[in-house]
Amino acid sequence: MSDLSSGLRLKLKENFSFGSLRLINKRLSADGTEKFLFALTDKGSVEAVSIPTENRATGCISTQVGCKFACSFCASGLHGFKRNLSAAEILEQALFLKDGSRVRKLTHLVFMGTGEPLDNYDNLLKSIRIINSKEAFNIGARRITISTCGITPGIKRLSGEGLQIELSVSLHASDDRTRSRIMPINKRYPLESLLTACREYIKKTDRQITFEYVLIQGLNSDLQSSRELSKILKGLNCKVNLIPANFVAELGIEPPGKLEILMFRDCLLKAGIGVTLRKPRGQDIEASCGQLRLKHENRI
Ligand code: SF4
Repeated sequence: MSDLSSGLRLKLKENFSFGSLRLINKRLSADGTEKFLFALTDKGSVEAVSIPTENRATGCISTQVGCKFACSFCASGLHGFKRNLSAAEILEQALFLKDGSRVRKLTHLVFMGTGEPLDNYDNLLKSIRIINSKEAFNIGARRITISTCGITPGIKRLSGEGLQIELSVSLHASDDRTRSRIMPINKRYPLESLLTACREYIKKTDRQITFEYVLIQGLNSDLQSSRELSKILKGLNCKVNLIPANFVAELGIEPPGKLEILMFRDCLLKAGIGVTLRKPRGQDIEASCGQLRLKHENRI
């Protein structure tokens, strides 16, 4: 605003800011992953991550302050749920990653940060429509991913939105007993109801679903679990994204060995199920969901 005097501009810069997020911590991994922790106006905090690879730059953003779903492998739920983020607060993270991170151009966005996106449905959809619009971020719907822990009414509702977005469902176990142990939401929406909602979603949208599966040593990574998983996913238009767990000292979580991971993957491939194996990213900066925020909150 060069029609204002430089003194006034300086004063404005020092005393005011647009938006409500304030960057309070930043970590850069050796692999280029950057993690940002933002303070909100009400003293809460949220994280966002930028993940550059050879031909894309993915932003991972949060939808809630804390999380009420308490998955046992995730640091985000450890201090409970505080509140939903507004659509503006969600968009501000994307804006920051677009302009304030090292990536040149944000090509993909995933709603995989803190919180359950489908539990903040209206603000999520509002922000997605803006991110998708040509006048704003112009990121194609197929480059936007919603990740859910399995809120079946939300999956059903989403299937009627006419959006070509990617849906990713956190499965992490092939039987109700194990899943309920690590994901309490499974008691409310057990596997059968979740997979029925997924089947309906695929039918209605003609889109493939990605099932996320975190491999945790001694819990869900043996060959029997892989066989069970191929059984329950048989006939579904889906792929499985295997994610060796990040070490989370506070939660006593560690990934299985390389051989076990490969055997798990090969068993699914043999059953005709598409599999990707996610490379660990940002392990040196505690990039998994909620870790940086947890450290910050433990300090204050
Ligand atoms: S994995 Fe997702 S739903 Fe589960 S506690 Fe973490 S943020 Fe919440």
